[in-house]
Amino acid sequence: MKIIDIKTFLMHVGAPDLKAWASDNAFGSETVSKGITGTRNWLFVKVYTDDGIVGIGECSGWPRVIETAVQDLKRILIGEDPTHIERLWQRMMSAIMVHGMTGTVGGGAMTGIDMALWDIKGKALGVPVWNLLGGKVRDKIRIYAHANTPEVALSLKARGITAIKCGGVSDPVRKVAALREAVGEEMDIMIDLHGPPWLTPGDATQLARALEPYKLLFIEDPIAPDNLDGYRRIRDHANVSLAAGERMTTIFGMRALIESDLVDVVQPDTGRAGGITQMKKIAAMAEAHHIMVAPHSGSLGPVAEYAALHLLAAIPNGLFLERIEDDWEGREHTVLPHPRSQNGFLKVPDAPGLGVDIDEAFVARYPSQANVSVQVSAQSGSYVPGTHDENVYVQTRMQRARYLSSK
Ligand SMILES: [Mg+2]
Repeated sequence: MKIIDIKTFLMHVGAPDLKAWASDNAFGSETVSKGITGTRNWLFVKVYTDDGIVGIGECSGWPRVIETAVQDLKRILIGEDPTHIERLWQRMMSAIMVHGMTGTVGGGAMTGIDMALWDIKGKALGVPVWNLLGGKVRDKIRIYAHANTPEVALSLKARGITAIKCGGVSDPVRKVAALREAVGEEMDIMIDLHGPPWLTPGDATQLARALEPYKLLFIEDPIAPDNLDGYRRIRDHANVSLAAGERMTTIFGMRALIESDLVDVVQPDTGRAGGITQMKKIAAMAEAHHIMVAPHSGSLGPVAEYAALHLLAAIPNGLFLERIEDDWEGREHTVLPHPRSQNGFLKVPDAPGLGVDIDEAFVARYPSQANVSVQVSAQSGSYVPGTHDENVYVQTRMQRARYLSSK
């Protein structure tokens, strides 16, 4: 079998109901003010072979940019045997390395292609990808959804969902307290502080201590995930579990976080961490440190979600999968079949390969419009509009005292 073509399918993704999203500023007010609804893009990749098998994958990270990277990588893959996945992964890595592109763009491009190669291998052998990864540890995958208010949390609980995550950019302690009071102790709650360095490690430690009574499953990205020494400080001074890793790619990017035992849960992104090939290795590294894996859902696209289901079925230290329940209504028309959660779980697919395909005609109806958003917003209290601090990455949170004492 030989690879004869690789095609990309880029689409603009509508915004989910903001109630369904654990972020205070998911789409960037500037982009919205320019008349564009949402800035998410999904990028799918199809790898075609000379015997008719077509593999599908998905790249997250910065999809509009990654599309070019995938088209560039195509040159070194045409004519190759798609079943030698590790060899092709190494070939891609060597090519990208020269550009210094081993971050989310390089990782995203390798991911979509690698995912499609696993899909091809599964289809060729007539087995689901989880079978190629060692077989099933579990038949269904627990999911967690996003909730910022008690009302949303209670409606998710009523549907059988057992874990929720809120965004921590505004009023984190008060928000968590309200959620815990509403749902009781049988539901897991997490908070995502979204990691820009607007809290010092000392601030984050204070906040983590203030959150201790609410018994969170984890605090995600309390500070920038590249501040590893800061993670150590938080870890040593607060009795909380930490999670991080959604922006890191490959075993090399994840290595310090795992080997230094800085987190309890690692969150590689199924759409950009380097493919199923890397996800499996990252999971094994984490397992050796008693660290659980809870994949970030990438740009939260539906094909990468399938890949995550196969991975979580096969690894012992899979915790659960992040999911926007009640996402943009077009999500279910983008892929077939569309997985639906039942009592807080998604069933592990049993069809050969990944067991999913995109509706190309539907995808074509949504051309990409924009793919960048300003995440640091005035609404979140991160800066005062018009000041010199606007849109600066490293900054102290405005009204810091109020933020840290909101209980
Ligand atoms: Mg996050």
